[in-house]
Amino acid sequence: MNLQIHWKIFFGLCLGFILGILSRIFGFQEIVLNYVSVIGTVFLRALRMIIVPLIVSSIISSVAGIGSAERFGRLSLKALFYYVITSLLAIVTGLTLANVIKPGVGAQLGLGAQPVELPADAAKFGDILLGIIPTNPLASMVKGEIVPVIFFSLLFGFFITRASDPYKDQLRKFFQGVFEVMMLFTQFIIRFTPLGVFALLAEVTAKNGPGVFIPLGSYMLTVVIGLMIHACITLPALLLLTGGIKPFALFKAVTSALMTAFSTASSSATLPLTIDSVRKNAGVSCDVSGFVLPLGATINMDGTALYECVAAIFIAQAYGIELSLVQQITVVVTALLASVGAAAVPMAGLVMIVIILRAVGLPLEGVGLILAVDRILDMMRTSVNVWSDTCGAVIIARSEGEKNLKVKR
Ligand code: ASP
Repeated sequence: MNLQIHWKIFFGLCLGFILGILSRIFGFQEIVLNYVSVIGTVFLRALRMIIVPLIVSSIISSVAGIGSAERFGRLSLKALFYYVITSLLAIVTGLTLANVIKPGVGAQLGLGAQPVELPADAAKFGDILLGIIPTNPLASMVKGEIVPVIFFSLLFGFFITRASDPYKDQLRKFFQGVFEVMMLFTQFIIRFTPLGVFALLAEVTAKNGPGVFIPLGSYMLTVVIGLMIHACITLPALLLLTGGIKPFALFKAVTSALMTAFSTASSSATLPLTIDSVRKNAGVSCDVSGFVLPLGATINMDGTALYECVAAIFIAQAYGIELSLVQQITVVVTALLASVGAAAVPMAGLVMIVIILRAVGLPLEGVGLILAVDRILDMMRTSVNVWSDTCGAVIIARSEGEKNLKVKR
């Protein structure tokens, strides 16, 4: 069939959802959970297989290609500025909605009944900051620790531009070559995305029936409305105002990546598709996309930031704890830090809520309250995270005066 890939992925999503529902109705969940899910696992493993070499080659080749220290500094500043502003806008949206809708007031949740197991180091933000610097970059690559790998690659790329002549060019070409090969890998894996997405959706739907949503309905609604406002109003407004970019054209250009983000709930697993669509369909240069997107996938998480904020306030409301203004400001700041520190993998945001709960003195078991609906919200917030990364890449490319953008007004 000669359908465009994003349509195939869309049908994969729908069919997966339908199969999951049918498996619940006719009681063949086991088959979906034991067999169909294997296809999803294979797809995810294939994506994860290419992430480290893709990130390393993409960042090194683009930073080496950026050339001057001045341009490198300017791009980094623009990217960080964009990440902080959009994350704060997302958090303020979440804060406002949580205070207006008050999803946790009077919620009947059987408090304290289901404490969740949290990794012991979930709340040590200082360690996360220190962990940016790898003591052994190869060990970080082997363990798949993305932040230190990015840090090392940024420096490596930068110092290539300082190397003396034959090496400078040879190294740049070498990493461009590796990047080219990784993109070919990506395009090969993308062909299987509809199937992978189908299996992942079938598994999630078979596991979580609609029943889990009912007691947490207004909490979910608050998060979803917030995410919609951020994705459909705030970010498009930024695209129009700061970059003269057509939001819908960009949305069409990156739909495959957004749907993959939805089904995998992982910005880093989606990264290969994000880079591919931003380069090919939106026309952003390799220099900018190769640098801004891996960085964005790792530290720019607007959806996660918004969700963290709503979740913390929901937990406070559910426990009947009134948050003072200072505590609310603490929620905003820690939600920003937690979204930066969250790994780009499923459920990372849920674990990071502990940072906020600690900072404002809320009961940590509160995380257990929202566990049941985390997966579906994770899928949605991850799509928003990836959408914001693509918006950032295009806005920065435009501000650099790139001529080949295909999504300009
Ligand atoms: N799953 C999200 C992501 O990869 C992170 C989170 O859990 O919020 O972008």
